[in-house]
Amino acid sequence: PLSLAERASLIEPSATLAMGAEAKRLKVQGRQILDFALGEPDFNTPANIQEAAIRAMRDGQTHYTPPAGIPELRQAVAKLYTDHHGVATDPAQVVVSNGAKHAIHNALMAVCGPGDEVIIPSPYWVSYADLVKLTGAKPVVVQAPESAGFKMTPDQFLGVVTPRTRLLMINSPSNPTGVVYERSELAALAEAVLKTDVGVLSDEIYEQLTYRDAKPTCFASLDPALPARTITISGVSKTYAMTGWRIGWSVAPTAVSKFIGDLQSQETSNPCSISQWAALEAITGPQETVVEMKAQFARRREYVLERIERLPGVTCTPPGGAFYAFMNVSSHFGKTLGGKKIIDSTSFCMAALSEANVALVMGSAFGAEGYARMSFATNLETLEKGFDALERFVAS
Ligand code: PLP
Repeated sequence: PLSLAERASLIEPSATLAMGAEAKRLKVQGRQILDFALGEPDFNTPANIQEAAIRAMRDGQTHYTPPAGIPELRQAVAKLYTDHHGVATDPAQVVVSNGAKHAIHNALMAVCGPGDEVIIPSPYWVSYADLVKLTGAKPVVVQAPESAGFKMTPDQFLGVVTPRTRLLMINSPSNPTGVVYERSELAALAEAVLKTDVGVLSDEIYEQLTYRDAKPTCFASLDPALPARTITISGVSKTYAMTGWRIGWSVAPTAVSKFIGDLQSQETSNPCSISQWAALEAITGPQETVVEMKAQFARRREYVLERIERLPGVTCTPPGGAFYAFMNVSSHFGKTLGGKKIIDSTSFCMAALSEANVALVMGSAFGAEGYARMSFATNLETLEKGFDALERFVAS
């Protein structure tokens, strides 16, 4: 029989996708599932972006593109960072990939290998630890508890740096907590980083989705010395409701980007040509639909926080960005809900799904036991039904 490489034991299927799959399985059986597991906007991709894709197809943009992306898109991304994020960026530093997830994988492949360590503040996005392990490097998880606002401090960072540390991964606004670091907090982290030889991978995919006083910060812009050691990740999936188009990018020092482009040329050739033209329209075309979608997320966020307030035994640090509520459900551990014994976040979420038809993702998947993540990239009607069901569930 064909045996698997050792590498196969390093990773697990993405827990968010697994919860989504279980929810789908129940739906196929005819169950009405209130699905808050998946992290993607429920909106359709704006019409101007769809039109750009159709135009690209009709214009014959249906061939291989340069591996690192079409020059027009790399140029537009470079301009975005130069003009709006305050980091002078050359198009050669930009590589367009098949989504931000692929951009992260490429970036890690470029700078990490066996024996290296990568610092990841927890709670963290599900894929970080597994993608680090795939390179042979070791994830070093640092707990950033809710009492600290789910934020890692500079001292915590300095406390775990070793001669083998290659990278710090940060994600603000964060998935799963929605936490947005203040500019001053990131500046303090940057100062600590600059005392070391550690590089930074800053995942800024939710940069345009912030609420109330929260403001996103482009990490590389905090100090002139940072661009030479920072890989910034972003893309169009969340901001433009384009998850299925698979376009993300990395902005890195030129030598790193050159390698990432070469890696892509061997592995995937190029991201979808049509999607690249659509992404170009997304970032250079009219932005009104982004404002509208963001306003809807903001309304849903208010609603979700109001309902959590009334949900017995559940609390939540209000998210400053992204579209997740990271609910503390630990006060229900040890109880029996819907006839199911609840002992941890997995049993809570499994029981919520099987007994209340509500799909959430367990905090343990994000390195934080005691929590359940609810995505509010869902319409208000579904959110209302979901909270009604959760109210009955926690009272059962
Ligand atoms: N980074 C974070 C923090 C995310 O939450 C996600 C999507 O869930 C991604 C990256 C991946 O985005 P993409 O769909 O562009 O690969």
